[in-house]
Amino acid sequence: MSTQLSRNETAWWREADAKHHLHPFTDTKGLANEGGSRIITKAEGVWLTDSEGNRILDGMAGLWCVNMGYGRKELALAAYDQMLELPYYNTFFKTATPPSVELSEKLAKITPDGLNHVFYGSSGSDANDTIVRMVRHFWNLARKPTKKIFISRNNAYHGSTMAAASLGGMAAMHGQADLPLPGFEHVMQPYWFDLGGDLTPDELGLKAAEALENRILILGAQNVAAFIGEPVQGAGGVIIPPESYWPKVQEICRKYDILLIADEVICGFGRTGNWFGCETFGISPDIMPLAKGISSGYLPLSAVMVGERVAGTLIEDGGEFYHGFTYSGHPVCCAVALANIRLMEEENIVEKVRSKTGPYLQAKLNELADHPLVGEVRGVGFLGAIELAKDKATRARFADVGTTGALCKDYATGNGLIMRAVGDTLVVSPPLIMSKPEIDELFKRARLSLDMTAKDLG
Ligand code: PLP
Repeated sequence: MSTQLSRNETAWWREADAKHHLHPFTDTKGLANEGGSRIITKAEGVWLTDSEGNRILDGMAGLWCVNMGYGRKELALAAYDQMLELPYYNTFFKTATPPSVELSEKLAKITPDGLNHVFYGSSGSDANDTIVRMVRHFWNLARKPTKKIFISRNNAYHGSTMAAASLGGMAAMHGQADLPLPGFEHVMQPYWFDLGGDLTPDELGLKAAEALENRILILGAQNVAAFIGEPVQGAGGVIIPPESYWPKVQEICRKYDILLIADEVICGFGRTGNWFGCETFGISPDIMPLAKGISSGYLPLSAVMVGERVAGTLIEDGGEFYHGFTYSGHPVCCAVALANIRLMEEENIVEKVRSKTGPYLQAKLNELADHPLVGEVRGVGFLGAIELAKDKATRARFADVGTTGALCKDYATGNGLIMRAVGDTLVVSPPLIMSKPEIDELFKRARLSLDMTAKDLG
C-alpha cells in the first residue's frame, strides 16, 4: 500500500480494494488495469454518490433490489429497534421470533393464493438450493422417487451456488465449475429478438414452450421433478415472454405432473406492476422463491413460498427436514422486510407502478425505439430493455457482441446513469419510487449515451 495516500483519497480505497478484495462477477486483473473500482460512498432516493462527489442516477436499483430507494429511515429504525430488542436468535429446534412469525403471516397474505408456507434464507441462491432439496424430498415422500430432474432455460439466472448455478442456464458460469450438476436440464428461452427468426412473438413463445414438452418426453415425465423460470428473465436481458408462453408452459407442467417454480427474486415486490410477476403473467406456481425487493436490499433475506401440495406432504409425512441456515428467519432481516412491506403499502407503490409511473417509464422507453442503434425496446412495469442492433429490420447484431453494449454502458456511467449491459442489451430496473422527472432524467441520459455510442461507431 502506498504510504503517501490517505483514506480521504479515492486512490487509497482503489488501491486497497485492488490488493485484497476479490469481487463477484469481476475480472480482477481487468479491473486493476482500468484503474480500479468506483467507490460508492452514499445514496439518497434514487441517487448514488461516489468518492469523487459525482451524483449518479441508479437505473438498476442496486442489483434489482433497492425497490423503495435509498436512505429510508423507516427501514433503518426497524433494524435499530429490533437489534436492541433481539438482534439474533435462530429458528431451528422448535423456536421462533416475533418478526419471523409476523413476516410469515404477511407473506402468506400478500403472495398468490395457496402459497401459505415459507422457508427463510439469506439470498436468492440459497432459496433456490433449498428448493432443489425440498422438491427432491417431496417426490420421495410422494412415492415418486424417480422424479428428480429440474428443467430450466438457457440463459436463465437463478444464483451462484452449485445448485442455483446448475439451475441457471449461463454457459460462462457452467464453464468455470463443471456445471451443471447431473440432473439439471435446459431448454430454449422465449427470447423473440434473438431466436424469433421469421416467427411472430406468439409463435416463438409456443415454440419455446414446446421445447419444454419435447424435453420432458425425451427424459420421461416420471423422471422430471420441476420446471423453474423467472416470470421475466432479468439478468439474461429482461426477456419479456410472449403472451403465448406462460399459459402453455403451465398447461404442460400440469399435464405431466411437474412442479412449477416461478423465481420471483427480481419480479417480486412490485417490479412488474403487481406484487408478484406471477400475477402479471397469470402463473400459478407450486413454489416461489423471493429475495431482493423483500427488504429493498437493506438486509439479506430470502423466502421460499411453498404451496399446499408440497408443504402439506412435507408437514404430514416428512418428519424433520434436515436443512436450514444459521440466519434462516433472522429477526432483524424479518423486521426490516416487514417495515419495507408496510412502507410499500403506505405509499401505494405497487399501484403507482401499475398505473402511473410504470406506464410513464414504458412510454419513455418506447421513445428510444426510433434511435438508429436500437433494434427493439421492451419492458413491463419498472423493467426495461434496449436492444442494440446493426440492423433494425433484420435484428442483426453487431459483429463482436457485447462490445457496443459495454461502450454504451460506459458512456452512461460517464453521463451519471447506471444501466447494465447484457451483451448488446442495455437493461434498466430503477427503484420503484422513481418519480416522473427522474424518469425523464434517466432517459435523457440514456439517449445521450446512445448518441455518443452511435458517433463512435461512425
Ligand atoms: N434468482 C434470480 C431470478 C436472480 O435474479 C438472482 C440474482 O440476481 C438470484 C436468483 C440469486 O440471488 P442472490 O444473488 O441473492 O443469491
